[in-house]
Amino acid sequence: MGECETGWSVTPPVVPGLAVEGSDARFPVGRIFCVGRNYADHALEMGADPVREPPFFFMKQSSALLTDGAALPYPPRTASLHHEVELVVAIGTGGSGIAPADALDHIFGYAVGIDMTRRDLQDEAKAKRRPWDVAKSFDGAAPVGVIVPGRTMAGDIGISLSVDGAVRQTGKLGAMIWSVPEIIAELSTYQALLPGDLIFTGTPAGVGAVEAGQVMHAEIETLPSLSVRVA
Ligand code: MN
Repeated sequence: MGECETGWSVTPPVVPGLAVEGSDARFPVGRIFCVGRNYADHALEMGADPVREPPFFFMKQSSALLTDGAALPYPPRTASLHHEVELVVAIGTGGSGIAPADALDHIFGYAVGIDMTRRDLQDEAKAKRRPWDVAKSFDGAAPVGVIVPGRTMAGDIGISLSVDGAVRQTGKLGAMIWSVPEIIAELSTYQALLPGDLIFTGTPAGVGAVEAGQVMHAEIETLPSLSVRVA
């Protein structure tokens, strides 16, 4: 007791990374922020009122990251694993109190992602007024595709997800309640954003369960698609 331990060693945490189109370097991922209920049609399907309640934020652990083509082990403690296809923003330049007009300058690029959700645990958390962490943050909970560098996504771009070839979710990025600049500005009022942060920007309607053996295919026009098999 009271003696100093010497010679100890702990393996440093691994910094997860994402492939970047046109580059051999990987984008190092720090934190993963998510926006909840950012499409009116999804808010309605979850029993919420998008007029009365604005979008909000929650987080996933960075070790939840899963890259394109990887298998997602069906997670423990759930019988209702849901997909939510989302536009993911990669932050390249940090800052706090960012003005919406300056927000695009902080973006490194974009990718398509899936906000995997243990819906039964989320329903229980909502009913008991508990945090969502165990429902949203677990191994493999954040599949994200290849990042395309760039600050803007031009036009009203389609977003969709299919399971074993059957289309489950379709929408337009233009239907987001908070735009990407508004999300960055709002989030940066809570804490400073840092290079390496990812932001999931919300999902359109059509979320549903996947079973072991099924393959999810997530697409956003102009970005590389993302395929994930549930193992
Ligand atoms: Mn989501």
